Amino acid sequence: MAQITTNAIVLRRADYRENDRMITLFSPTLGRIDALCRGCRRQKSPLMAASEVFCSGEYVLYQSREHTTVVSCAVQDTFYALRGDYDRLSHGMYALELCAAAVQPDQENERLFMLLLRSLAHLCYGVSEPRRVTAVFLMGLTSLLGFRPQVGRCARCGVRLVPQAGEDEAFYAAFSPEAGGVVCPACGAAERCHISAGEARYLQDIMRRGLESLDAEAACSDALFAALRQMAEEKMDVPIRSGKMLG
Ligand SMILES: [Zn+2]
Repeated sequence: MAQITTNAIVLRRADYRENDRMITLFSPTLGRIDALCRGCRRQKSPLMAASEVFCSGEYVLYQSREHTTVVSCAVQDTFYALRGDYDRLSHGMYALELCAAAVQPDQENERLFMLLLRSLAHLCYGVSEPRRVTAVFLMGLTSLLGFRPQVGRCARCGVRLVPQAGEDEAFYAAFSPEAGGVVCPACGAAERCHISAGEARYLQDIMRRGLESLDAEAACSDALFAALRQMAEEKMDVPIRSGKMLG
């Protein structure tokens, strides 16, 4: 039995008994933690904000043999403004659900934690299209799970892909969720998601610069976004339901 202090963000919550809640936390050092938040639904409970999804901060937890309870939380950000924009909120919920599926108990993942917090900050306070933020998140998440998307070479035959500016025919290459990246026209003729040279450069920029790539002019087409989602979601053991709400 011990008290522990850790940074964490609430990935999901479920009401429990009359005034309590079970929350699922993501800690960069301790992975996924299910914790009981006692009395948090009472008015004026000091744990009210700490038991909401998106709340991030320094949590003090008490671990007994049966369960973990939240003792207190120094809130850093609740990303409250997301609630005022359905599209941005949906993208944020989707990122939380992907993390809940990807992160295991007692598994350190500092880089995914930072990627999640920075992506949520872009969704909440930034001006970039939410879909572009999620595209970076999906490629980063897939990478951190050990399946780094191939963008510089064909993911099937290995031929180098050097898309030039001005070379923008609609079928420069394809994106294959199964192969885990960009494939050359010869390997990708049967793929659903054909991409232009500009889109191939866009994907290379994401792999090179992560969220920094949001400052460049680019768009993520419906077909490419669907392919990126499929690539990441197929790495999970559970179906990701909140993806249906994405615009
Ligand atoms: Zn090829």
